[in-house]
Amino acid sequence: MHVIVVGAGIIGVCSAYYLRQRGFEVTVIERRPGVAQEASFGNAGIIAPGYVTPWASPGMPRKVLSYMFSSESPVLFRPNANPAMWRWLARWLRECRLQRYRVNKSRMQRVAFYSRAQLHDLRNQLGIQYEQAQGYLQLLRSARDIELLAPARAMLDESGVAYRMLEPAEVHEMEPGLSATTPLAGGLLLPEDESGNCTIFAQAVRRAAEDDGVRFRFNVDVQRILREGDRVTGVLAGARTIPADAVLIAAATGSPALLAPLGIRIPMYPIKGYSATVALSDGAIGPQRALMDEAYKTAITPFANRIRVAGTAEIGDRELVLRDAALRTLIKVATDWFPGAARFSGAKFWVGARPMLPDGAPLLGPSPLKGLFLNIGHGSTGWAMACGSARVLADVISGTTPEIDLDGLTLERYR
Ligand SMILES: Cc1cc2nc3c(=O)[nH]c(=O)nc-3n(C[C@H](O)[C@H](O)[C@H](O)COP(=O)(O)OP(=O)(O)OC[C@H]3O[C@@H](n4cnc5c(N)ncnc54)[C@H](O)[C@@H]3O)c2cc1C
Repeated sequence: MHVIVVGAGIIGVCSAYYLRQRGFEVTVIERRPGVAQEASFGNAGIIAPGYVTPWASPGMPRKVLSYMFSSESPVLFRPNANPAMWRWLARWLRECRLQRYRVNKSRMQRVAFYSRAQLHDLRNQLGIQYEQAQGYLQLLRSARDIELLAPARAMLDESGVAYRMLEPAEVHEMEPGLSATTPLAGGLLLPEDESGNCTIFAQAVRRAAEDDGVRFRFNVDVQRILREGDRVTGVLAGARTIPADAVLIAAATGSPALLAPLGIRIPMYPIKGYSATVALSDGAIGPQRALMDEAYKTAITPFANRIRVAGTAEIGDRELVLRDAALRTLIKVATDWFPGAARFSGAKFWVGARPMLPDGAPLLGPSPLKGLFLNIGHGSTGWAMACGSARVLADVISGTTPEIDLDGLTLERYR
């Protein structure tokens, strides 16, 4: 049985690997020249199932409004006339109610915890090193930041996730490179969460998949999914028909355009984000684990002798151009915490688009068309959910019951 995977981001690459393990003939079709070149390229690298959370949460609309009036804001809003953006925002607002937030968060965590276990199995099996670091520490600048954390802490307690609140002195002891002058009210440590370089991981899984017989076709754009009646028969790609028994869509923000002609409408909108990757200066002490500045929603992640600073949610504009306002916030946060540790004139700046659904959880599993499957919409936590989502899809396509319940994670939730 031949399965085509559309998209070679972290989701498509991991899906292809697990599908091949199940004995399928697998072809991955990717419009870019290599794997992990869009959202999976410059992300913050954080794998924090304990803290995976939908952006639609109580208090968030107010927070977003207040950010609009700040000069170094983690949220940029560029309103346009596109009805898809306004529809997405309206749905997002409805999902901010407490009851919806709890449902959405538990769906996301179900995938993320499962995914972390799959990631560990896969890295042990393949012996992958991907600049990983253990632990995830939230930096809380003020008493207000600590106060705003209360609902998240309540959920951590409820779900039995290990965490510790830290006094400023404890944070400084754990992170000796941290500035002593930037105000710090405390920290929240999630010792079981972790970080790692998503691109390096995707490249290693690609090599393993290819060694196992998966075919990768790069620089090929899938224009259309082909169907006969209620069954998918292949794809039209690069002006060629490629037949298949099943097609798995893992095309992130490219997915709605492929699905709409089949009558499948997905409320996905690209929410842009930025990162800067920069070498540590000689002798500088960088972060020891992934850090998150809660006030600026900006992550600082250690990658070998570099750091990656990532964040900003830019809503509205689909163009992937670097904006000074976003980059300024990244540099401010990094230099607030690690002054002089890196020279940003030599940084590699990046902008990417998160494939965001308004409620937060991804869409996994079957579609109304026979032979068409989805692994999309992982939003701001696709790296943390990649191995688990991919394993679920390999199970679904091979007719095996997945190890996690798919209730609330399939297309059914929008029907
Ligand atoms: C600033 C930022 C920080 C982030 N930080 C984190 C983090 O710390 N932790 C975390 O878990 N997640 C994080 N994310 C989110 C994470 O990066 C994404 O959820 C994840 O990369 C999505 O993977 P993907 O494979 O679905 O998408 P992508 O990597 O975008 O892959 C989709 C692929 O499909 C291809 N494609 C699309 N359409 C077609 C077509 N028609 N034909 C052929 N190919 C096609 C694209 O070229 C692309 O390569 C972050 C994202 C951003 C932007």
